[in-house]
Amino acid sequence: MIVILKQNPDQEQLNGLLRWLEAQNIEVHPTVGTHQTILGLIGDTSEIDVDLISALDIVDNVKRVQEPYKNANRKFHPDDTVIRVGDLEIGGGTMTVIAGPCSVESEEQIIGIAKAVKKSGGAILRGGAFKPRTSPYAFQGMQIEGIRLLLKAKEATGLPICTEIMDASQLPLFEDVDILQVGARNMQNFSLLKALGKTRKPVLLKRGMACSYQDLLMSAEYILAGGNTDVILCERGIRTFETYTRNTLDLACIPSLKTLSHLPVIIDPSHATGKSALVPSMACAAIAAGADGLIIEVHNDPPHAKCDGPQSITPEAFDKLYRRLDAIHRAAGEEI
Ligand code: PEP
Ligand code: MN
Repeated sequence: MIVILKQNPDQEQLNGLLRWLEAQNIEVHPTVGTHQTILGLIGDTSEIDVDLISALDIVDNVKRVQEPYKNANRKFHPDDTVIRVGDLEIGGGTMTVIAGPCSVESEEQIIGIAKAVKKSGGAILRGGAFKPRTSPYAFQGMQIEGIRLLLKAKEATGLPICTEIMDASQLPLFEDVDILQVGARNMQNFSLLKALGKTRKPVLLKRGMACSYQDLLMSAEYILAGGNTDVILCERGIRTFETYTRNTLDLACIPSLKTLSHLPVIIDPSHATGKSALVPSMACAAIAAGADGLIIEVHNDPPHAKCDGPQSITPEAFDKLYRRLDAIHRAAGEEI
């Protein structure tokens, strides 16, 4: 349920309402927006009398929220959420490009790619240290050493870093990581999501390959319910009957998720297509469709990459692509 307040509500009446709701075991999440203040009510609101609250002088409107996701719901928070990472802002009309290799392979590799990504305009460095591989015999990532090398690349370039966390027990190792990535295979690892809800670090939450928008938003809800407000939703392709591409990129998720939720939406054209040749067009399409950013795999030597070489673009291709993305983003902004 949401309670929309009138402008400049009488403080005494408001405190009275808040006390009364508390006594009914209802948690209140206030959102002060540009045009209105909204109280999001969480708990069993079935016994709350809508007419009683609507009749208060300070109340403009009361609506029941049918969807099971509350904190993630646009109705609870009409303005876009903007997530701050250092000086960067993710969401709210900006374009944030996260780029880097699928996995960290060596100091030379990650620092070299980080420098190239920064030079082209990339804002955040990606690189897997702990890799969720389908085969237990495949390269599992450099693990702790990978995190250490990412931090070295951050020091060398000033780029914030984004890397995947696979288990809550790894949290102490991620203390200096700027964005915690939850992979598609872990989107419904609820104990991990609960642990991330207790942190105050931005979380990049990837959509599971067989999960609906509502499943994704419910996973985001786990993190938000813990008090962490900084969740970035990421579409990385879903499983369909098509086999030409690695997955099927669902670009309709951009306007859909933005209608349903206030959280930033970014697109991963690399895992979505599995083919480097398809990455630029899908990246451009995502920005044209209103995505808040992208996460793109960039490798200096794709044929010899330890992981996901066929979908990785070179630093040169990334440079060219970034210029196109920038132009599309500007044009889309003007149109709006
Ligand atoms: C990745 O970003 O390298 C990755 C493993 O992605 P996903 O979880 O989307 O498969
Ligand atoms: Mn990958």
